[in-house]
Amino acid sequence: MALIKEVKAREVLDSRGNPTVECEILLEDGSLGKAMVPSGASTGAHEAKELRDGGKRYLGKGVLNAVSNIRKAIATKIIGREAEQKSLDAFLLELDGTPNKQKLGANAILAVSLASARASSASERLPLYAYLQKLYGSSSLSLPVPFANLINGSRHAGNDLAFQEFMIVPIGFKHFGEAARAIVEIYQTLKASLEKRLGRSAINVGDEGGFAPPLQKTEEALETLWKAVQEAGYANQVKLALDVAATSIFREGMYFVDGQTLSSSQLQDFYTSLLSKFPIISIEDPFFEEDFASFASITKQFPNLQVVADDLTVTNVSRLQQAIQQKAGNCLLLKVNQVGTLSESLEAAKLALQNKWGVMVSHRSGETEDSFISDLAVALDCRQIKLGAPCRSERTAKYNRLLRIEEEQGEAAKLAWIR
Ligand code: PEP
Ligand code: MG
Repeated sequence: MALIKEVKAREVLDSRGNPTVECEILLEDGSLGKAMVPSGASTGAHEAKELRDGGKRYLGKGVLNAVSNIRKAIATKIIGREAEQKSLDAFLLELDGTPNKQKLGANAILAVSLASARASSASERLPLYAYLQKLYGSSSLSLPVPFANLINGSRHAGNDLAFQEFMIVPIGFKHFGEAARAIVEIYQTLKASLEKRLGRSAINVGDEGGFAPPLQKTEEALETLWKAVQEAGYANQVKLALDVAATSIFREGMYFVDGQTLSSSQLQDFYTSLLSKFPIISIEDPFFEEDFASFASITKQFPNLQVVADDLTVTNVSRLQQAIQQKAGNCLLLKVNQVGTLSESLEAAKLALQNKWGVMVSHRSGETEDSFISDLAVALDCRQIKLGAPCRSERTAKYNRLLRIEEEQGEAAKLAWIR
């Protein structure tokens, strides 16, 4: 295992035009690894702390303190160490010393953790996914089914839709390339239909590249999306999925949806009605981030529904343990920057899979051209990835990386649906 020779860090920009952290790690054998950190908008209260500078510069969103933490506090301590992932990540946690990484910043720590993984994969002359597969210890790899967010709402868009993400799930395909093609054809069909019905302003896109049309009602968005699937000729191979991001519509014990104020059991009835009308196979964050009981209730009511925990579990092993115990959900959304190191993300994935939960690797609404998550999803053999619409380069970077991996792997890495 090569030793770390040089650590560089800089402030770069993310897809929302906010600063983020980039780190470069050079090993003594000449291997180089680089990584950039994403950023959420509907962040969970229990996520690891993203360090922002405050003040006037970049309206408070600068990350110079996080960059400086890498250059000084971290670099001086890790130069000369082995780039062994587990011990490096453990050392980073020790250096920070806080439960939520608030001292050095989860953005600083994650940039180092991911850059080191890339440098190690280069050192071992392995593609990143193969290195990650070895690190994780999985015996097989597969191309994940892409969850494509084609209509954006809530905090990701300038419209009145209460729910955050209206996704399509191409489950009826053998190859990632075919699934990507179906997504694109549905996306373009949806674009034409929105423009025809609602005018040109309806085809502006939101943070994740999906359209942000001036629709108000959840059912209207689902109808529009499902019609586009049918019109594009994919009704037999494509299903629908939602990320409600319910914490964003929760105030003082009630949910604000489509002009109504709903209790959690009324919201569950609303989901029951949606599930009876549309081919929805997966709902993420159906309830507020502390409401394990309601997550458990919907999971029990619909045994065939995938109930994804995002803000509830924040890729955190102890939150996930609690959710598993309470049967609050059955799939972990895995976002590396929610927890702040690669090793902790892998532990969370392992815990989920061991307990027969699904794992869906996910991007953030604020992204960069870094496609690390594509390799991660392949390596974990977790069979699901959430990567936005096939639009805006920070989103297509993830699709394109998966297309390249599929070409590289050929038949060895078939597109695989949930176990
Ligand atoms: C999400 O909620 O799943 C998401 C991707 O959005 P954000 O990055 O804003 O949390
Ligand atoms: Mg979410």
